[in-house]
Amino acid sequence: MVSDHRRPWTPIALLGLRLLPGRAKGGGERYKVFTVAVRNAAQLRLLNNLESFLSLDVWLESSVNKPGVVLVSGDKSDRFEEALIAEEIQYSINVENVKEMLELEDQLHETSNKRNLTAFKGSALPLDRIYRYNEVNAYMEELASVYPDTVTLVNAGQSFEGRPIKYLKISTTNFQQLNKPVVYIESLLHAREWITLSATLYAIEKLVIDVNEQDLLHDIDWIIMPIANPDGYEFTHTDQRLWRKNRATGYMPGNLCSGVDLNRNFDAFWSQASSNIVCMDTFHGRAPFSEPETAIIRDIVNAHSERIELFLDIHSFGSMILYGYGTGTLPPNGLNLHLVGVRMAQAIDAVKMSWNDHYIVGNVALVLYQASGSAMDFAKSVGVPLSYTFELPGYRLGFGTAAGFFVDPEFIEQAGFETWEGIKVGARNAVRTYKQRTSN
Ligand SMILES: [Zn+2]
Repeated sequence: MVSDHRRPWTPIALLGLRLLPGRAKGGGERYKVFTVAVRNAAQLRLLNNLESFLSLDVWLESSVNKPGVVLVSGDKSDRFEEALIAEEIQYSINVENVKEMLELEDQLHETSNKRNLTAFKGSALPLDRIYRYNEVNAYMEELASVYPDTVTLVNAGQSFEGRPIKYLKISTTNFQQLNKPVVYIESLLHAREWITLSATLYAIEKLVIDVNEQDLLHDIDWIIMPIANPDGYEFTHTDQRLWRKNRATGYMPGNLCSGVDLNRNFDAFWSQASSNIVCMDTFHGRAPFSEPETAIIRDIVNAHSERIELFLDIHSFGSMILYGYGTGTLPPNGLNLHLVGVRMAQAIDAVKMSWNDHYIVGNVALVLYQASGSAMDFAKSVGVPLSYTFELPGYRLGFGTAAGFFVDPEFIEQAGFETWEGIKVGARNAVRTYKQRTSN
C-alpha cells in the first residue's frame, strides 16, 4: 500500500481515466517516459500498486531482474517521482517530452514515405516505412491477382467500425493437402505496436515474391493477417499514436471511454486477470468474443484447428517470446513449448542489432504478469500445440529502448528480417511435430 502522507487519489485517477498524448492536436508535451528498476519483490508490489492507483500506462512490465517502462502524464509525474524516492525505487526519465518524440517520428516517416510512392506490381514492398490499412489491403489484393497459384485473399468480416479484416492464405496446394501443418501469424492486434506489421509483411514477401527456401512454401500452409485491429490501427495514425485497444463504443454513457483490449477478450480464462473498467487499457469487454475482431480470429482458428500447429501473435515491445497459460499453469507440452521458443529466440538473437537485448523466453505469467483472455491462450486451449506471443524489440530512436512503441524507419526492415529468422525455425519445428502428432 502507498503511505498516507501523499495527496489523496482523485476520483478521476481511480476511474482509470487518462488522456493519451494525441498526434494532431498537440498532445504529448506533458508526458514523460520513465524506466523503473525494482530490487526485490516488495518493491515490485509497491510499484504495481502505485501504477494502478495512478492508472499509468505501463509500456513494459517491471520484474526484479528487468527494468520496466511507464508513461506518466505531467500532472502525475511529481506524485510518481515522490513515491519512487520514498520507497527507494531506482528510476530514470528516458523521455522528458513525449511530444518531441512523436514529432521526430512524424518527420522520419514523412521523409521515408516520400521515397516510396511508386506503385508496386507484384513486387516486394520497400520495408522502410509503415503502411496504412488501405495500402496493406491493396498490396494483398495485388499479390492475390499476380500469384493466384499460391495466394488467396480472404475477407474475414468487419471490424467494429466496419473495416474489412483481411488475411492471406498461402499454399501450393490450395489448403487441400491435409498432411501439411498450418502456421498462423497475425500482427497489430494492439494498435500502437506498429513495428509488428513488418514481421507479417516480411513473411509474406519471403513466401510469395522472394522465395529462396522452398520447403517453407511447399511443406506448410500459411495464414497471415497483417492488421488484426484495423480501427485501432488507423486511429493511431489519425488521432492518438499510443492507442492500444479497438474502437468499440457503447460501453459508457456518452462514450466517455471506449475500446476493448482485444488481447484480453478471448475466452481462455476471460476476466480473471484483466480490467472490467472501460477506461483501462486492459479492459476485457462485456463478454468473451464480444468484439468482432476477436470473433473473426476465433472462427479462423476453429476452422483450421486440426491443422494449425504453430500460432504466432506478434506484439511489441520487450524482446520476448512468451507462451501460456496466462495463469502461470504450464500446458502438458510446456517443455516442448519452451524448447521451440528458445530455438526461435536463438535464431533471432544470431542476427539482431547488437544494441538490442537478447530475447527472453518463458511462460507469460512467470516472465511478465498474469494475463487472461489472450489470443495465444485461446489458440492453445483449442488444441494448437505451439502457441506464442512475440514481443519484438523496441528501437532506440535516440531515446533509449524505453521509446519502445516509436518506430525508426531504419529499423523496420531489420525487424521483419530478424523476426522471420525466428518464424522459420518455429515453422520447421511445426512440420516435425505435426508429423509426429498425426502419424500416431
Ligand atoms: Zn501488445
